[in-house]
Amino acid sequence: MPNIAVFIEQRDGAVKKVAWQMLSEARRLADAGGGEVWAIHLAPAAGDVAAKAGAHGADKVFNAMDDAFTTYNSELWGTALANFCREKSPDVLLVGSTALGKDVAPKVAGKLGCACISDAVGLTHDGDWTVRRPVYAGKCFVELTPTGGPFVVGVRPNAFVIEEKAGAGAVEDFAASLDGVEPKATVARVEAGDGGKVELTEAEVVVSGGRGIKGPENYELIEKLAETLGAAAGASRAVVDAGWVDYSHQVGQTGKTVGPNLYIACGISGAIQHLAGMSSSKCIVAINKDANAPIFKIADYGIVGDLFDVVPALTDEVGKLKG
Ligand SMILES: Cc1cc2nc3c(=O)[nH]c(=O)nc-3n(C[C@H](O)[C@H](O)[C@H](O)COP(=O)(O)OP(=O)(O)OC[C@H]3O[C@@H](n4cnc5c(N)ncnc54)[C@H](O)[C@@H]3O)c2cc1C
Repeated sequence: MPNIAVFIEQRDGAVKKVAWQMLSEARRLADAGGGEVWAIHLAPAAGDVAAKAGAHGADKVFNAMDDAFTTYNSELWGTALANFCREKSPDVLLVGSTALGKDVAPKVAGKLGCACISDAVGLTHDGDWTVRRPVYAGKCFVELTPTGGPFVVGVRPNAFVIEEKAGAGAVEDFAASLDGVEPKATVARVEAGDGGKVELTEAEVVVSGGRGIKGPENYELIEKLAETLGAAAGASRAVVDAGWVDYSHQVGQTGKTVGPNLYIACGISGAIQHLAGMSSSKCIVAINKDANAPIFKIADYGIVGDLFDVVPALTDEVGKLKG
């Protein structure tokens, strides 16, 4: 019976949405094929995370509460998760492919000497595990069958749908056993970047601006539409490289990967490196004055027009609808 463990990533008590997505998928897999769903939660205090993890499908929630888990440190987190896998032996440990997750997942795998598959968008079990992930900036997918276990899978945010289907939700303490662990580097302080009001990778709606906005002063158009929609504001690399907005807004192969329900691309041509970061969005709307722009090939809805006319008109209409 395969047991699936899910790392519950939280910052200041706020759990990353991808954790609930992974738990929901793990619940679906366990319901179909047996086994248990476990949540492993590293934090200074429990809060209401265990109850929420149970509501999202966890049969067991392992709380490793320690002041050491106040500010992220890859050595401490990596050791704790590796110790958890050694002691509890899940078949697989799922870790969200967030900035923290991308850092800690290979650390855990390195400590366990096991496979680490990053950026997964699918997971199946029929005796063997199969993990699906994109390659060549999303042009193709590969399906990998890891051997041995446990193994670590980094899961792309928004690859799985959240479903509140409760598991048994039994809570157990887990001693992370950090005595003697001496991190080679410590985090002196964390400075929040200018990432906008809504975090890109967590957003349900993203509005992004490309070189078509012509200059930094016009990024305001993107921000206004985003604000009206309650969305996060993104950008292409062209905009970021030009210094028009901060790097934290960049969507794409070398930026952030988003998977919102709605992605509105304004004045973005649709280069493969940009698509790599947003093509898994549920609904894509492209606004571009060039009817032959590649972005229209993957758009669900296309508006051929000048963004300086279309974006303010859209913002007005959405504003009216929202009253
Ligand atoms: C290794 C590598 C990694 C990369 N990583 C990334 C990445 O992570 N993210 C990323 O985005 N790019 C990335 N790039 C860059 C990528 O190749 C493109 O250069 C970039 O995405 C282009 O940005 P853009 O679409 O904003 O600009 P352009 O390609 O210049 O497109 C601008 C678009 O705006 C339209 N337009 C112009 N004026 C208007 C108007 N008034 N109204 C409406 N439409 C208008 C034009 O028709 C055009 O289609 C990477 C490149 C490399 C080599």
